[in-house]
Amino acid sequence: MIIDTHAHISDIKFDTDRKDVIQRALDSGIVKIFEIACQTKYWDKALELIELSNIFAAFGIHPNDTSKASTKDYKRLELLIQNKKCVAVGEIGLDYHYKYSLQNINIQKESFIKQLKIACKYNKPVIIHCRDAYDIMLNFLKKYKCIPKGVIHCFSGTLEQAQAFTKMGFLLGIDGPLTYKNSSDLKQVVSKTSINELLVETDCPYLTPQKYRGQRNEPSYIIETLKEIALIKGISFDEAANITVLNTLKLFNIKLL
Ligand SMILES: [Zn+2]
Repeated sequence: MIIDTHAHISDIKFDTDRKDVIQRALDSGIVKIFEIACQTKYWDKALELIELSNIFAAFGIHPNDTSKASTKDYKRLELLIQNKKCVAVGEIGLDYHYKYSLQNINIQKESFIKQLKIACKYNKPVIIHCRDAYDIMLNFLKKYKCIPKGVIHCFSGTLEQAQAFTKMGFLLGIDGPLTYKNSSDLKQVVSKTSINELLVETDCPYLTPQKYRGQRNEPSYIIETLKEIALIKGISFDEAANITVLNTLKLFNIKLL
């Protein structure tokens, strides 16, 4: 039993074969997929997808999209968060990677606070996007009063940063890059972090695991990341899958029916 806690199957890259992709995931033992609708243009598609029993969604405004977001968008977001198939607010956070994003850093911060408040108000966890800004994020969260539970999506920081986040109660999202040859830092983080603090994600269509690198990523490929976690932890694949599912159910407060 596996849950892909971070997919973007609303993305246009899945327009021609979305149904097949979802079926392949089910056939591979992925019992639930979390669709992360973090761009307003994908919100309607995500609402359609969560009609399917095996799909849940998170809604949010991605830091790189915050300069385009309107008051109306935040109002709609608040409504979407209350949908019974919505498991989290996300992905939200800080992105210091792109120049255009850095120029709007104050807007990013304001938006992040606004969305943290929404998460607290509706008692939802957050899926945090943090790029080139782990220490800034840690300081930011330490200063902020209401910190929801959550996951640091696609963690790629140092062991010290990983420990600082888990100490605050956050889980770490582990993605395809764990399977890359040059991922020794991330492998060390996984090795030193309790498996009870890890979630698995694909971030598809991005971050394709090594075995399929060069192709579009999809939920069924999450198996590669789980295999690597099992190897690092010296446990069976099933054990790695089951524990990460339990972590997921607990954080997002859902049940498998
Ligand atoms: Zn993502």
